[in-house]
Amino acid sequence: MKKSVSIIIPTYNEEESLPVFYEQVKAVINDLPSYQWQLLFIDDGSKDHTLKILDDFYDADNCVDYISFSRNFGKEKAMLAGFDYCESDACIVIDADLQDPPYLIKDMLKYWEEGYDDVYCKRLDRGKESWMKKKLSLLFYDILDKSTNHDVLVNVGDFRLLDRKCIDALTKIRESERYTKGLFGWIGYKKKEILFNRENRQYGKTHWSYLNLISLAISGITSFTTAPLRLATIIGFIVGIGSIIYMIWIITKVLIWGDPVAGYPTLISVILFLGSIQLICIGIMGEYLGRIYNETKQRPNYLVNQYKKHRSEL
Ligand code: UDP
Ligand code: MG
Repeated sequence: MKKSVSIIIPTYNEEESLPVFYEQVKAVINDLPSYQWQLLFIDDGSKDHTLKILDDFYDADNCVDYISFSRNFGKEKAMLAGFDYCESDACIVIDADLQDPPYLIKDMLKYWEEGYDDVYCKRLDRGKESWMKKKLSLLFYDILDKSTNHDVLVNVGDFRLLDRKCIDALTKIRESERYTKGLFGWIGYKKKEILFNRENRQYGKTHWSYLNLISLAISGITSFTTAPLRLATIIGFIVGIGSIIYMIWIITKVLIWGDPVAGYPTLISVILFLGSIQLICIGIMGEYLGRIYNETKQRPNYLVNQYKKHRSEL
């Protein structure tokens, strides 16, 4: 029997790139007829004509199935839905904006056949991104890598092939504030790297603003490590010891030289400094508290509005 492979495509407002994307992916999979293919689109509450286009694909092509969400839940949730609904022997996660070149699918399958469970694509070059964005993302990977006990891969996105084992592992993880890039590392399994040059987005615009990226970075760090909490304790100790030394110095100064009343600038600096350290530490605790709050609500990760599927035997 043919092995089955699903291509999972999270799509959000991609009406411009979808037709080209579809054509390119079809060309690649038509070249690989020894597999049974499924194109599983997840429409993440798009506001343009994406859903209509997916419906047309569905009517015209037996390989195409799609899920549409009740609203925009974000790419992480869209991927999770893809894993939940995927019944194939393996899946490939790919962006709809053609930044992940579909021709790499062939190499991924080759390594999968050799026995690798997670074949991921590493970007040699991050494409047209600002200097600041590149530096910040390197810093983020560095922090995450040093503070967790599993490997965090630099410049590796979600574009990858996952064996059934990995899909099952990922669907078992139901945490609501997901950081899937970290989860790929967390689940382990036999990994293989493919290097590629990331294209620039051809159509439409990126859905990530700096604010989104910062919030993703915070969520990445807080979902994988409690190191910031430890850091808060350490900062507390260092500041405490510093204050004691400073206090001894002030008292000695007064006792020896009989200091006149002065020191408004020193006082205000110390108050502001300690105040800000306290606020930062409360903020760090708040981050974790917020996450606990969100997890205890146990809401579903996403809501499906429509699920259209051709084959039941897949
Ligand atoms: N995407 C999604 N939901 C969102 C935002 C993005 O499903 O809320 C999809 C989007 O359609 C694309 C992929 O996730 O297929 C990557 O998005 P984008 O290109 O904006 O991210 P970038 O490539 O800049 O990291
Ligand atoms: Mg993109």
